[in-house]
Amino acid sequence: MANLNTSPAPPPQSVEIKDLHKSFGNNHVLRGIDFTVEQGEVVCVIGPSGSGKSTLLRCVNLLEQPQQGQVFVRGEEITHPDCHLDAARQQIGIVFQQFNLFPHLSVLGNCTVAQRTVLKRTADEAERVARANLERVGLSDKIDAFPAQLSGGQQQRVAIARALSMDPALMLFDEPTSALDPELVGDVLTVMRKLALDGMTMLVVTHEMAFAREVADRVVFMDGGVIVEQGPPAAVIGDPKEERTRTFLRRVL
Ligand code: ADP
Ligand code: MG
Repeated sequence: MANLNTSPAPPPQSVEIKDLHKSFGNNHVLRGIDFTVEQGEVVCVIGPSGSGKSTLLRCVNLLEQPQQGQVFVRGEEITHPDCHLDAARQQIGIVFQQFNLFPHLSVLGNCTVAQRTVLKRTADEAERVARANLERVGLSDKIDAFPAQLSGGQQQRVAIARALSMDPALMLFDEPTSALDPELVGDVLTVMRKLALDGMTMLVVTHEMAFAREVADRVVFMDGGVIVEQGPPAAVIGDPKEERTRTFLRRVL
């Protein structure tokens, strides 16, 4: 007889979003977003400019406060008033279009400062972790350089190493290659591809359809503050059901 107690637990949800609404004044930007990201899953969010993609990511680590709805990160409701926001945010790494490195700090300094101040790691431990992550992004030889001495692609890879050095459970990327010269995009996507293969849970807003097709487990198409369509890349990008998705893809592909 089946013993129900030994059946495997469902995979823990890394992120769960329920009926999320966000307005800026009269501008109702997110109009009821529901979706989940499973642990180890790579979800790419695509959609036209202004559809609310960045606002959605910013609500996932509460850089923006939604007016309605709930966000759970690893089962904990971070939209709950009693939530310890800093502790919740520590689990989430975020990489923006603009790299936002500290210009007055070296690459090593950029990758160690939050480890020391937020995680209270010793200088030695923080440096060990930073070196390991700079190696992951292929920048071991730039450890003493300053941001102004690096290309955009290198700066973005430092930003990724800096986020990884906080040991996040989840990485958010908001158009990480959109500010880069075309010849620098590939190196950043290669790093992200490797992260995905390593099992990192990733929520990625991107216009790189080839990347989404190859790396995403699931693609979410947003338009006008709602999820119009989601599913495996072969379905959403390769054979979209909704006219709005088809119109968008005709423009970007
Ligand atoms: P996307 O990332 O898909 O291009 P955004 O989430 O950046 O879209 O923006 C969606 C809408 O929200 C836009 O109309 C934008 O002007 C508005 N918006 C975003 N952030 C703010 C803000 N901080 N204050 C006011 N309006 C904002
Ligand atoms: Mg955006």
